[in-house]
Order: sequence, then C-alpha cells, then structure tokens
Amino acid sequence: MHYLDHAATTAVLPEAAAIACKVMTEQFGNPSSVHKMGIEASGILEHARKQVAAILNADPSEITFTSCGTEATNTAIFGACRRKGRGKHIITTAIEHSATLNTVRHLEQEGFEVTYLQPDADGHISVDDLRAAIRPDTVLLTCMLANNEVGTLLPVKEFGKILKKEAPNALFHIDAVQGLARVPIKPKLWNADFISVSGHKIGAPKGIGALYIKKGVRIQPLMLGGGQERGMRPGTEALPNIAAFGEACRLRLAQMDDNYTKVEALCAQLKEGIAARFPWAVYNGKSDMPHVVNLSFPGCKSEVLLRVLEMHDVYVSSGSACAKGKASHVLAAMKLDHTRIDSALRISFAPSNTPEDVEALLDALEEGTKRLKRE
Ligand code: PLP
Repeated sequence: MHYLDHAATTAVLPEAAAIACKVMTEQFGNPSSVHKMGIEASGILEHARKQVAAILNADPSEITFTSCGTEATNTAIFGACRRKGRGKHIITTAIEHSATLNTVRHLEQEGFEVTYLQPDADGHISVDDLRAAIRPDTVLLTCMLANNEVGTLLPVKEFGKILKKEAPNALFHIDAVQGLARVPIKPKLWNADFISVSGHKIGAPKGIGALYIKKGVRIQPLMLGGGQERGMRPGTEALPNIAAFGEACRLRLAQMDDNYTKVEALCAQLKEGIAARFPWAVYNGKSDMPHVVNLSFPGCKSEVLLRVLEMHDVYVSSGSACAKGKASHVLAAMKLDHTRIDSALRISFAPSNTPEDVEALLDALEEGTKRLKRE
C-alpha cells in the first residue's frame, strides 16, 4: 500500500495507539472523579495538556481539548464574534477550510459582514490586502497557517502585527491544522489569540483536537454543561484520544527537524520524477511546505486517474472535487481554468513515506496518464 494522502488523515502512531489502548482498558477513570482512578485519569489529562502545549509553544493553561479541528475553529470564531458590544466585521480568506468558511457564512446570515481576501495565482495571500481590509469595526481575523490543498503558508506573523496595530481590539484566530508538526508554531510572535489544531493529521486518532486560547482572552463556550476544560468545553474528556494526541505531539516535536528533512527528500524525488517523465504536467500553486504537492495532468480527469492509481494500491487525493463533486474552491479562487482544476491531484507526504512510495506513484501515473490520454 502506498498512502500519499496524509493531508486528509494519517495512521495512528503505534506508541499513541498503545497509550490509548491502556487508557481505555486499564486507566479508564473519569478525570472528574475524586477517587484514586479519577486522580490517575486527571494526571494523564494534564500530562497530555503539557505535551500539546509544548508543541504549540504555549502554557498548558492555554490549551482546551476539543473533539476535532472543526470544533476548535467554531469555538474560536463564534466566541470572538459574539463578544458583546464589538463590531460586525470579519476578515478571512477565500482559501480556508470549510470549518472556517461555513462558520463565517453562518455569521453573515446573522448580520456580520465578511471580507474574503483573495489569493494570487500561486495561492498566496497579500499582506497589503489585509491592511486594506481592516476597518474600525473589525472583530476577528481568521486564517489558516498552511493551506490543505496547495501547501502555501500564509504570512501569519505579518498579519498578526498589522491587525494588532490597526485594530487592537480585534482577535486573531489561526487554523494551524495543516501546519502542526510541520512548521514551528509561535503564538506569541504571531500575536495569535486562538490556534486550532487536530490530532488525526499528526498520528493521533480521529476525534481529538485542541484550541489554544491566549491567557487573558475571554470568550463564551459553544456548549454548556459540566465544568470540564475550565468550562470552555464541557463533557467528559475523551481521555484515550487526549493521551494519544499528547504522545503524538511529543514524538512529532522531538522529530520535527528530521521529519522535515525526510519529507523534503521525498518531495524532491517526486519533482525530479515528474520533470523527467511528465514534463507536460503543471503545478498548482507554489507550495511552501514539502508535505503538499498539487499538480494537474491536463487531459486526464482526476477522478478517473485516482481510480487507476487505486488499482496500483496508490492513494492520493483529487484537488478537483470536494465531497459533493464541486470544483475546488481553492483552485477556483486562484483563477485556474477548468481543465486544470478537473485534472488536479494532491499528493501529501508523512515522514513514514518511503522512496518506494514515490516510485510506485510515478509508475502508476505513467500507466494511468497513458491510458487516459489514449481513451
Ligand atoms: N482545517 C484544515 C486546514 C484542515 O485541513 C482540516 C481537515 O482536513 C480541518 C481544519 C478540520 O479538522 P478536523 O478534521 O479535525 O475537524
């Protein structure tokens, strides 16, 4: 099996799975219980919080566990925008994940005005466009750190600096789901008030995420209930997932530089192979991370090409379609033409990938593109 779709999700790291299993079967107490089992569970929870805080360069008290990246993002956006007596203007970008886009669209229906910063043809967002978009009634800037389709990095450091200068009362949320464990996370340097992350992109199970909330920033929670997570996220904590997420963060932080170098070599191998064997292929966007490569094979519909790759046990994803078969909003915002959007593939690496995976992909692409061009 050659799995090259790690921006979609990753396998759980064996060390993380082992901890989750132990917590499920042996250390299964409720962290809110006051007996010995509860105290042990509470210790596991706080240990994981420290591990997540370490990879986020944050204080453990700034970490709230959520069920996923989407919940973390909803909590930050609704929380920031529903502060009483503030403005009604939100700034985001046209290339955000639907966790952000659908949340701000919902707020639009409630009377908020949203400015969508547009990318250039390479998938980058301009600092000048942000400066021009800020208004006295701006309450929130929400943008991603790394784009999930084309791998571009957004200038979050400059964004944070400009926002806090021009609109000091506005809050800054960063969706770092695709950047976590790939690039260093620097909440203070970026002037971030909130940062969303997700476990399943870095070798933890699905169903766990976290929200960094800067010390001193106060927002209302999305749900009401018990006092877990200091009231920010009530509901009994998903301790097996949380413990596994902590362990994945620990491992990925310790190996971050080595992993980056490994992925960089795989990406270089892929690009060399593409240049030698498919000189007619075109890259979509100028990816700033070796983890995500998006390219089109004009004349070869991506949905069909994916099926051919699958027959060779090679798994990548289509940059052309979301779940409902609509054209990629990211590539469309970059104003790429339809033939390019319809034939886009996203290849996304993890450090567990090998040179053999890249060779298998190139061989499968050769057969697939020849076949589709003949047809
Ligand atoms: N933000 C980005 C950039 C993503 O790529 C994803 C997942 O694909 C999410 C948010 C949502 O994360 P989750 O699947 O944990 O809800």
